[in-house]
Amino acid sequence: MEEIAILIVEDEKKIADTLKQGLSENGHFVEVAYDGNIGFKIFSSMKFDLVILDINLPGMNGYELCKAIRVINSNIPVIMLTAMSDMKDKVDGYDAGADDYLVKPFEFRELLLKIRVLLKRTLKQHLPIGNIIKVSDLEMNLDSKEVTRAGKKINLTAKEFQLLEYLLRNRNRLLSRADIAVHVWEIDFDTNTNVIDVYISYLRNKVDKSFDQKLIHTQVGMGYILKDK
Ligand code: CA
Repeated sequence: MEEIAILIVEDEKKIADTLKQGLSENGHFVEVAYDGNIGFKIFSSMKFDLVILDINLPGMNGYELCKAIRVINSNIPVIMLTAMSDMKDKVDGYDAGADDYLVKPFEFRELLLKIRVLLKRTLKQHLPIGNIIKVSDLEMNLDSKEVTRAGKKINLTAKEFQLLEYLLRNRNRLLSRADIAVHVWEIDFDTNTNVIDVYISYLRNKVDKSFDQKLIHTQVGMGYILKDK
């Protein structure tokens, strides 16, 4: 399966983190939210291929979140996790627009199988994201983790790679420092740190410095944007 972007919204941290680890090991790009409202914020801010939702969540619950997601994207596969196996919950979930269900505790294999089946359905209708993200002459290979610009290899640290991947996936979209902090550092934005600016400058040195066309741009007081024109 090619790399797909999955959002997990689950407030049981242990389950969420285990799922994230398992899906990442299977080559997927995974974002986690422990709260329904934050989950919706993350969903609205980037492109995902599949969503896994718990039902009982702080903030928006799983049904409300599923409905809100459906308003933005009627097609994205949604799998609901539930600790309650009773039929009424399933009916509510399907009413809210879920595609499938998993009753906790479940086997990870079963989740992988459901993901595969659901994606087969949607990927037939949409062009897959593919394993190479390309903006202008900058290319990121998500399988080999190689980055090149104008065919020249660029060596990045793991964190620089994650930051660049996030910028590339959201190309032509202005990203605030808070967006970047949550998605790349998985922390809430701390105004006392300039770690994001420092990493952006590392990336610029490697990605833009020796090229006429700059791809990473600063919007003063707003954040950063990677764009090709
Ligand atoms: Ca829960």
